[in-house]
Amino acid sequence: MKLNRRLFLGTGAAAAATLAAPTVFADGHSKPRVVVVGGGAGGATAARYIAKDSKGEIAVTLIEPTRMYYTCFFSNLYLGGVKEIDDLGHSYGNLAAGGVNVVHDWAVGVDRDAKTVALAGGGSVQYDKLILSPGIDFVEGAVEGWDLSAQNAMPHAYKGGSQTELLKAQIAAMPDGGTFAMVAPPNPFRCPPGPYERVSMVAHYLKSNNPTAKIIVADPKPKFSKQGLFQEGWGNHYEGMIDWIGEDFGGGNVSVDPAAMTVTIDGEVTKVDVCNVIPAMKAGRIAELAGVTDGNWATVNAADMSTKADADIYVLGDASSQGDMPKSGFSANSQAKVCANAVRGALTGSKVFPAKFSNTCWSLIDTNDGVKVGATYEATGEKISKVDGFISQTGESAELRKATYEESEGWYKGITADMFG
Ligand SMILES: Cc1cc2nc3c(=O)[nH]c(=O)nc-3n(C[C@H](O)[C@H](O)[C@H](O)COP(=O)(O)OP(=O)(O)OC[C@H]3O[C@@H](n4cnc5c(N)ncnc54)[C@H](O)[C@@H]3O)c2cc1C
Repeated sequence: MKLNRRLFLGTGAAAAATLAAPTVFADGHSKPRVVVVGGGAGGATAARYIAKDSKGEIAVTLIEPTRMYYTCFFSNLYLGGVKEIDDLGHSYGNLAAGGVNVVHDWAVGVDRDAKTVALAGGGSVQYDKLILSPGIDFVEGAVEGWDLSAQNAMPHAYKGGSQTELLKAQIAAMPDGGTFAMVAPPNPFRCPPGPYERVSMVAHYLKSNNPTAKIIVADPKPKFSKQGLFQEGWGNHYEGMIDWIGEDFGGGNVSVDPAAMTVTIDGEVTKVDVCNVIPAMKAGRIAELAGVTDGNWATVNAADMSTKADADIYVLGDASSQGDMPKSGFSANSQAKVCANAVRGALTGSKVFPAKFSNTCWSLIDTNDGVKVGATYEATGEKISKVDGFISQTGESAELRKATYEESEGWYKGITADMFG
């Protein structure tokens, strides 16, 4: 066919219109739909960035049961009396004002063929891309004698909010010279330095309020994150108060009796006043219900956090098995930004940048005695791979430790603003 000028112009205009037009989706809707399950470090960040950066081009729905999110980060400082509970609570109002459709409900199922998420309240929500960031649940039977029905007698305080408040109340009610026991979790688990920062902050509180009290830690691991730094700090600040029983001394051979308030470590029964049981962990249940887990965690592609099981379902944060990053709020936030950029690119054709990730975990040992460990990461074909890292050193000056703590304060303000607007 010979093209005349008029036909050529017309064809060109049609082609331009096609390029500019949004993708037409299977059931005829014009705006792509992203559903995010879980409004924590990963989910709130992903929802906020997709809504903000797509400027209304993508419809974003966030499903989260709680009206207030209480961070686990800095919850140990609350146990130590350094922070108040209100310092840890964040609402979803700014996310809603920023264009995210916030639905306070539980996601109870995912139909991958129909691309819908079922809600406990009875409704269902359709998605083109689904992002799951449900955090953790506990492995049943991980600690003999403990299950969720015992969490009021022996709290885990490993999800933020009421459990953290309960543990704090129990510590405050300990009799003089009483015993606080912790059952530490096996790898991999949420926040590798978390249990040991908690031990430090509980000791900090007891030193002022109940100085003859004792802390026992039963640990199934032979070593733990920042061990040299914590043990140096425990020696400096809490001499004789903390007894850490690692794997080599039977720390993994543990059972508890919540009715009798006893802990049995390698056959030795001890009556305790508070028992903080932190069981083995797995991905939040909705990841399993969506069929994207492989064992306890969801395996993902490092470049965009999409799951190996389903290219339209992404898993962020603690629930993912991604490679070298620790399960931390910083990691979840970093992964969420990579995922948000990739999802927006896939749905609207916007530019997708190469995936880069970072993490730092700060821990407070005593007043102004802060330490940190961190690294940067990149996506490889196989996993998220560590590029380089850093860690505080033993014997650092008091000024440097104070500066490290102040840095963590800045980080907390920054990450919560990044998550919730
Ligand atoms: C004691 C302690 C101290 C910590 N300190 C630090 C620290 O200093 N720095 C740091 O970076 N990290 C820290 N962490 C780790 C950090 O809290 C987690 O790694 C981070 O919250 C993981 O983010 P996430 O999005 O995977 O899960 P979460 O932040 O837990 O968010 C999950 C959300 O999903 C929701 N949800 C779950 N299931 C469903 C469902 N079916 N439907 C709808 N919603 C659902 C939950 O209500 C929750 O709001 C700490 C953790 C603990 C326990």
